[in-house]
Amino acid sequence: MVKNYLKNTWDGLFTILIGMKITWKHLFVPAVTLQYPEERAKLPERTRNRLYVNINDCIGCMQCVTACPVNCIDIETIKGTPIDPPGETSNGKKKALWVTKFEIDTAKCCFCQLCVFPCPTECIVMTDVYEYSEWDRDNLIYAYSNLTVEDIKEKQLNFDKFQAEKEAKKIAMAKAKAEAAAKKKAEEETKSEEKSSDDEKKE
Ligand code: SF4
Ligand code: SF4
Repeated sequence: MVKNYLKNTWDGLFTILIGMKITWKHLFVPAVTLQYPEERAKLPERTRNRLYVNINDCIGCMQCVTACPVNCIDIETIKGTPIDPPGETSNGKKKALWVTKFEIDTAKCCFCQLCVFPCPTECIVMTDVYEYSEWDRDNLIYAYSNLTVEDIKEKQLNFDKFQAEKEAKKIAMAKAKAEAAAKKKAEEETKSEEKSSDDEKKE
């Protein structure tokens, strides 16, 4: 009976020692736990985190939108006009469009980075920001356009005015062309009539 009791006690102690083997071992090796958020792991090269858009360099070409597999980039543009040109990118590329809306819904983004590679001005990039949790999903929509509602209205008005003027010029030119053609035709007809009457007189 006593023998059995002692054996069970020894078995209990032995299994605890076996179970604690790894714990004991780790008392003598350097800790691998990071004390987040005070300590942070070094991110690997080409890590995929939150996107950023340098809107001043965006030409509104939509290549990123086309490449995105989950349609989480939403861009709207208005054509620039000679009286209100959108300017140039930092590397001297002339912009033709005002980017009135540039939103990325990071709640939908799968961090594939496919939008980054086709960008001709390299203005959409992956950052090293990976801590941007939100309680409200709408806060995960990042807006990059720097135009105000008033600016957008103004750009639209400028464009509409430019288009109307262009259309009016086109109509005026077509009218002038038609008038010139009619005048030429009338002159030719007069000349032809005069020639016929001269021929008749000669006969
Ligand atoms: S990383 Fe991928 S999913 Fe996210 S916006 Fe770019 S293309 Fe779309
Ligand atoms: S591909 Fe680049 S330049 Fe073109 S719309 Fe996207 S961010 Fe802008």
